[in-house]
Amino acid sequence: MKQITKILLSEKEMPRQWYNIVADMPNKPMPPLHPVTREPIGPDALAAVFPMELIKQEVSQERYIDIPEEVVDLYRTYRPSPLFRAVNLEKALGTKSKIYYKYEGGNYSGSHKANTAIAQAYYNKKEGIKRITTETGAGQWGSAMSFACHHFGIELLVFMVRVSYTQKPGRKLLMNAYGAKVVPSPSTMTESGRRILELDPESPGSLGIAISEAMEVASQDPYTKYSLGSVLNHVILHQTIIGQEALLQMAKTDDYPDVVIGCFGGGSNFSGIAFPFLRENLVNGKKTRLVAVEPASCPKLTKGKFMYDFGDSAGMTPLLPMYTLGHDFIPEKIHAGGLRYHGAGVLVSQVLKDKLIEAKSKLQRECFEGAVLFARNEGILPAPESSYAIAGALDEARKADIEGVSRSILFNLSGHGHFDISAYEKFFEGNLPDHEMTTAEVDEAISKIKLPD
Ligand SMILES: *Cc1c(COP(=O)(O)O)cnc(C)c1O
Repeated sequence: MKQITKILLSEKEMPRQWYNIVADMPNKPMPPLHPVTREPIGPDALAAVFPMELIKQEVSQERYIDIPEEVVDLYRTYRPSPLFRAVNLEKALGTKSKIYYKYEGGNYSGSHKANTAIAQAYYNKKEGIKRITTETGAGQWGSAMSFACHHFGIELLVFMVRVSYTQKPGRKLLMNAYGAKVVPSPSTMTESGRRILELDPESPGSLGIAISEAMEVASQDPYTKYSLGSVLNHVILHQTIIGQEALLQMAKTDDYPDVVIGCFGGGSNFSGIAFPFLRENLVNGKKTRLVAVEPASCPKLTKGKFMYDFGDSAGMTPLLPMYTLGHDFIPEKIHAGGLRYHGAGVLVSQVLKDKLIEAKSKLQRECFEGAVLFARNEGILPAPESSYAIAGALDEARKADIEGVSRSILFNLSGHGHFDISAYEKFFEGNLPDHEMTTAEVDEAISKIKLPD
């Protein structure tokens, strides 16, 4: 029998609703708090920086939310995304297990970020917003927003983490090509940026700092809003199209995953693929393990503390209940820039606390080894971020072989690495350092967390 290696859905089969895990969570997420009064904040507190429709989604308890037609129209240009069985990788490993991956790199942005960028730009447009500010780490989010904003006629200003701005000039130019303005962060444009530069003129920047800068600019103008590419509930909601499609695709294989894996930055691509499967666990008695893989240099899930903390370095966001390394923690300059975030989204934090998902951490070099093995057998060069999911999948296959069993392993290939070729060059030259944060370093970072009295 001929093996199926590519599982496609027709346009008609594309899901028309996003899935909201809050409806099925046994313990609902704790509320965001006002940093000074420590009272739960209402939706109004977010209105200065986000459009109303996204705020409604942020606090929604509805299980399914309709995807607007205008968003569906753009989704159709690249969705449904393919799900592959990695038969050549399986052969190279000599594994008895089946390895599947959902490929989210086949769109204009080269990553899953387009799924929420399009939705966010659309809702801002509908509410008359003229300009959006945002942050970007490795540049995938900025690229995703640049095109989406241009499509809906909105200006975009991107604060790009300085280390990535230097490491990845191609991403900056792609954003310019789609019509966005890009500034390295920390910058002198904002008070938050200037404060950091005073302390350290050479600061490599962090996502937390870039978020503060973007929020500061947005909060000063009623026609400018802010947009975030991960972490928040509405972002995770938009990404569930990945897992909803994957469920339909797995059904066409007569197989079902024993384990679903995603790399972890703030939680959006992991949750996007995992939450629809988590629903099957919670509601339909399935027993799929859901594994988030994070860098050992930024281990909020595996070593961080579950507590109320800020989402950005200057403390402009509400206090959020999450696993964190501290809002002003600046991670090592690893090449998976999209994973250099100090905290984890509220929804993922709660389901991890409730042991409904698992987390593990990995060193950078092992992930690049996995990415190169994957590229040579499957023909796609993975984003450095996605290489953490690959390393997680390889672990599962090897473990199953040692145990003498065959498992079905599904991971999300969140993006391609065409703009990350210089990171691969460093890997080939043997110049890619491994960095692990020790428990003592984590404890020290956490002991430094300062919240307002
Ligand atoms: C941004 C990004 C990530 C990390 O962000 P999450 O919100 O955790 O998904 C992972 N992979 C790619 C390709 C990215 O662009």
